Amino acid sequence: MTSILICPKCKSTDITVQAIADTHTKNHSFFWWIYFLLIGWVVEVLMWLFATLPMLLIRIFHHRGVETTVQKVAVCQQCGHQWKVRGN
Ligand SMILES: [Zn+2]
Repeated sequence: MTSILICPKCKSTDITVQAIADTHTKNHSFFWWIYFLLIGWVVEVLMWLFATLPMLLIRIFHHRGVETTVQKVAVCQQCGHQWKVRGN
C-alpha cells in the first residue's frame, strides 16, 4: 500500500481495505428481448419440464447474464465507517 487512507468521518488512518466480489445482473439488450420473445420463453418452459438438459442451459444463461466485479471497500477501525476505494 502506497497511499495512506484517511477516514472522512474521524480522520483516523487506522484503515483496512477489503476486496469484495460484487455480482450483479447485466441489463438485457434489445436483441436479447427479441430472442426471448421468439424462442427464449419456450426454452424457459422446457427448462421447467425437463431435468438434466435445463440445468446446463441455466448455467449457460447464468454465466451470460451475470458479471462479477471486485470492489474495494475501506473500513475505518476507529469508527467503523465504510467507503468504496477506487483502483489498487
Ligand atoms: Zn473513522
